[in-house]
Amino acid sequence: MFSYSIIGAGLAGLAFAEALHKRGVPAEQILLIEETQPAAGSSGAIGAMLNPLPGRSLIMKGGHAEAYAYAYHWILQHAQEDGRAYCRTLPILRPFVEDLGAEQMQQSFLRGLSTYPATLHSENLSASQVAERFPWLTQTDGALLFSPALAVNYGEITCGLFEKLEAKGIRTQVGHALQTMQYTQDNTWCLRLADGTEQITKHVIFSIGADLDLWFPDLPLQTTGGELAEFRPPAGIEINTMISAAGYLIPNTAGTWIAGATFWHGKKASTSTQEEIFSSLRAKIARMLPAIEEAEPIRSWFGVRAIHPADRLPFVGPLPELPNVSMLGAFSSKGLLWGPWSAACLAAWLVDGENAIHPRTHTQRVPASAWKPSTTRILGVP
Ligand SMILES: Cc1cc2nc3c(=O)[nH]c(=O)nc-3n(C[C@H](O)[C@H](O)[C@H](O)COP(=O)(O)OP(=O)(O)OC[C@H]3O[C@@H](n4cnc5c(N)ncnc54)[C@H](O)[C@@H]3O)c2cc1C
Repeated sequence: MFSYSIIGAGLAGLAFAEALHKRGVPAEQILLIEETQPAAGSSGAIGAMLNPLPGRSLIMKGGHAEAYAYAYHWILQHAQEDGRAYCRTLPILRPFVEDLGAEQMQQSFLRGLSTYPATLHSENLSASQVAERFPWLTQTDGALLFSPALAVNYGEITCGLFEKLEAKGIRTQVGHALQTMQYTQDNTWCLRLADGTEQITKHVIFSIGADLDLWFPDLPLQTTGGELAEFRPPAGIEINTMISAAGYLIPNTAGTWIAGATFWHGKKASTSTQEEIFSSLRAKIARMLPAIEEAEPIRSWFGVRAIHPADRLPFVGPLPELPNVSMLGAFSSKGLLWGPWSAACLAAWLVDGENAIHPRTHTQRVPASAWKPSTTRILGVP
């Protein structure tokens, strides 16, 4: 029997397993169950940004600054421990692109300034300052620059973490999905996997990415997909910042560029050919960086993420009426920003009873009825 069974080996589930172990839970009491392989979900991306201020609002509300500081150190510490090039420290440039509401961005920035931690450096650049410092960028009305941020090899850091957890002795069961679970008379959960095996556990933690709706169909969630592509830059162009506007560009540790992202609603897989992905991302990025037209396409990737559209914040914490079942999910496009800190907060609460989960991310912020589980998957609820 296990004390904690974690369903899903994406960044969230793995960061949570690590946080449990750091709090003193013995490795043999932790089980990680993964349907496909580690980083099979959206944490397998070929590149991602730890962006201190993703999205349109540039105001940091409760928990945001803590999550950013935690994630920044967490990623750098893993890179240092493993001696692997998981990330590159770069600023993020947010150019004012006319149809994105430059005025709104400026206003949001001015209101946000007082909410930023001392460690976050921000600059409001005029058009001429942008032209001087970033000559390869298309002319803009100006831009905001934030640092430090990280260009992260997302899939690699996720797989590296999985290897480390296995080496510590955490039990992993990979290749078979959790299909159903049933509460037993002994106040434990019996987990039934796709290969017909069963595991008994006290706690269950769902970190299943975009599949949240299969287990909790009444949750007010949106699922959106997107594609990324890697390009080899043309000779002579050295880009010294990430760029985020209508699309984004990440110069990664290998010296290539990751361009993103296309966008569609729904859970369906990408139906585009590689050529279509390369060409649509080129068109998106060329508005900011014409040099992408000469860049050589290398590979593409797509992913799907779950979003709680009301606030685009994750769900962290226990589930009403399901004893010892917790949630760590709906990270939207901010998995790197909110994932490691949320995992640490959930572990603090579950292991030591610390009231660490921020109310803005707590599962309780939606009505208990939204957490009604799929009865075909969760049976025998007391
Ligand atoms: C195109 C795109 C670009 C993005 N860019 C960024 C970015 O720049 N910065 C950023 O911070 N975030 C970004 N994100 C978001 C980020 O990728 C996610 O928020 C984050 O990876 C979610 O991590 P997770 O561990 O919750 O889910 P996932 O990584 O999806 O992991 C869930 C895991 O659960 C497994 N699973 C599901 N059901 C079961 C089951 N029944 N049994 C066992 N296992 C199961 C899956 O196989 C999967 O491995 C992007 C997402 C997309 C799609």
